[in-house]
Amino acid sequence: MTASTHKPLVFIISAPSGSGKSTLVNELLKSVRDLDFSISYTTRAARGNEINGKQYYFISRADFEKMIRDDEFLECAVVFGKDYYGTSRRFLREAEQNGHDLLLDIDVQGAAQIQQKLPDATSIFILPPDRKTLEERLRKRSEDCEEVIERRLIAASCEIQNYDRYNYILINDRLEESSKNLQAIVQTERLQRAGRQLTEEESKTVALADCCRLANVRDRLKRILDSFKPPEASGMG
Ligand code: 5GP
Repeated sequence: MTASTHKPLVFIISAPSGSGKSTLVNELLKSVRDLDFSISYTTRAARGNEINGKQYYFISRADFEKMIRDDEFLECAVVFGKDYYGTSRRFLREAEQNGHDLLLDIDVQGAAQIQQKLPDATSIFILPPDRKTLEERLRKRSEDCEEVIERRLIAASCEIQNYDRYNYILINDRLEESSKNLQAIVQTERLQRAGRQLTEEESKTVALADCCRLANVRDRLKRILDSFKPPEASGMG
């Protein structure tokens, strides 16, 4: 396949904060070849160890709005009702030229925009095993004050209601297992594109990915969604 005819597979990953998404994304990028990470632009301030051009491009509101006017974004959204975040078209172009696939770490609003524009994109939603675990993780990473943790928990309850818009659901209970499942999803989509007979090993990979398909996780999902309901609602079936 020449670079000019390559149509990148686009993988969208969304998750409530504290789901372990960043760790899983980093592991995936280390273990899978030819997968580019789309570095988003944002108007939020850099946190502790973040470096401009690595996790994000940190830019001013005025610059972000200019990029919107110049139609430089594939999608963009205001996240947590506060800051702009956007995916530059440039990364898709570069993946196309380099014969690579592309990974987007974006919120549910961005995912909906990409699904409109690129209906073949593969979407993956990462979930914590339950609300209590999410709360513990948010406290443990001690990045946020109590008010922000509360806000993130409320945002998580809303975000997870969008789970059924995604092709795959990854319940991040054990990191190592989730990491293998995520790799299997990417490999499965690539195998489908290749469209050839599968080896025994490849069939196992596809089976692993299939376990994460929305239709196959409904029972576990119900328990997770229930754990996010207010106490009076969760007992009502
Ligand atoms: P954080 O500020 O914690 O790094 O990210 C907050 C949220 O913004 C996360 O859910 C993350 O996936 C989302 N996000 C990051 N980059 C983008 C982007 O380019 N577009 C959209 N729509 N959301 C993004």
